[in-house]
Amino acid sequence: MVVAVEADLGNLHRYAGHDQPDDDLLRTCVHCGMCLPTCPTYRLTGQEMSSPRGRLWLMKSVADGRLDLLDPIFDEQMYQCLNCRACEAVCPSGVHYGPLVEAARSQLEQHRPRPFWQRATRKVAMGWLFGDGRRLRAAVAGLRLYQRSGLAALLRRSGALKLAGMEELEAMLPPVSRRSLVPGAEHWSSPEPVRAVRLFNGCVMGTVFADTNRAAARVMARNGASVDLPVGQQCCGALHVHAGMMDEARTLARANIDAFEATGDDAIVVTAAGCGAALKEYGYLLKDDAVYADRAARFSARVRDVTEHLAETDLVPPTVPVDRVVTYQEPCHLVHAQRIAVQPRKLLSAVPGLRLVEMRESSLCCGSAGIYNLIRKEMAEDLGDRKVRHVMETPATEVVTANPGCAMQLRASLRRNGSRVKVRHIVEILDEAYGGKQNIDSDGSARAGAERVG
Ligand code: SF4
Ligand code: SF4
Repeated sequence: MVVAVEADLGNLHRYAGHDQPDDDLLRTCVHCGMCLPTCPTYRLTGQEMSSPRGRLWLMKSVADGRLDLLDPIFDEQMYQCLNCRACEAVCPSGVHYGPLVEAARSQLEQHRPRPFWQRATRKVAMGWLFGDGRRLRAAVAGLRLYQRSGLAALLRRSGALKLAGMEELEAMLPPVSRRSLVPGAEHWSSPEPVRAVRLFNGCVMGTVFADTNRAAARVMARNGASVDLPVGQQCCGALHVHAGMMDEARTLARANIDAFEATGDDAIVVTAAGCGAALKEYGYLLKDDAVYADRAARFSARVRDVTEHLAETDLVPPTVPVDRVVTYQEPCHLVHAQRIAVQPRKLLSAVPGLRLVEMRESSLCCGSAGIYNLIRKEMAEDLGDRKVRHVMETPATEVVTANPGCAMQLRASLRRNGSRVKVRHIVEILDEAYGGKQNIDSDGSARAGAERVG
């Protein structure tokens, strides 16, 4: 007993820090195993250690001093997890798994020795680049030039990308939007707006997928909103949280709270499921911050995924037929983390001419999971191939999703499997059904025309 207590204290002292799995949260697991069949890594490996229950046991073992934090098994399992939160959605005991694995990664980041170049790369990529919207827009401008100058096609044809091991990465990238969306620079409005909406731009959505954000703004304007993007907003910090970089995530969260605070209680609408889940958890992320804790909780209460927001409105019926067959891939951070499953389907069913055919395992992770598909290539490819097989079993010519990471992973997986199925964001389909840009005047105002139904 004495030995156990000493071991406890030894581990706690050695690995104390500001982020570690909350012991009260860990205790909520009753080891029932109901989460196991939903876990993608357990399904692929069949190993208890690679299951939610196994990982929670590892976290508890570290907390109790029975396992060293720096044991390679712990590191492997905390990073093999996709943080898809499928386990959380089915857990009868209400285990809040996401924050636990994120805290475990943060604990590792605080104490695990890393080579200098790895630390520097993370600081530059995640801190310097994603920490400032202007820098990211400048970097994406370079990417746009690379694609449009023909250099991308040339390198692809010459085989240089394959030689450099960049072919898969390149296959993920869609054609970058012609212009990034700059907060404060564009505005959309219904002729007689009945609500104000504050669009959360995001890092990848506001640059690579800026036209998708514009489509979302048009659709919301078509449905009675005035839409703008508050100045000062930054990346949501989801990538940082997933990588255990909590200090960087908190800095971004505080900047976003400051940027949106002046807009009262207006809805903060987001087009990326991963960002939405992170924004809805600012209250938890900043719970120990004396200045921001309450403000963070108020901010989180205002956040809505765009599908959630539109489904809550009195939707104007779209009138332009979209005569195609689509299937829907549920982003983990929409269906599991935010529990939004009905709304996207309800919106798609409102599109005239569109036929939605369900795929098998639509809510199983596609393998994207932030940057998982870059650092855990093999597992991510297995999951991507499995997802694409299910897409290809349907007659769909398009797969619809609601998250940029999923869109990129699906794109690469479809290409690898020789499929010509296209990837679309749900708001792009809705925008098309409302007439797209035809429906918006040059100043960003939505034209009147469609009838409102009760
Ligand atoms: S995480 Fe939940 S579902 Fe999984 S074993 Fe623990 S209590 Fe059961
Ligand atoms: S978050 Fe996903 S991958 Fe991780 S343990 Fe839960 S179900 Fe498995």
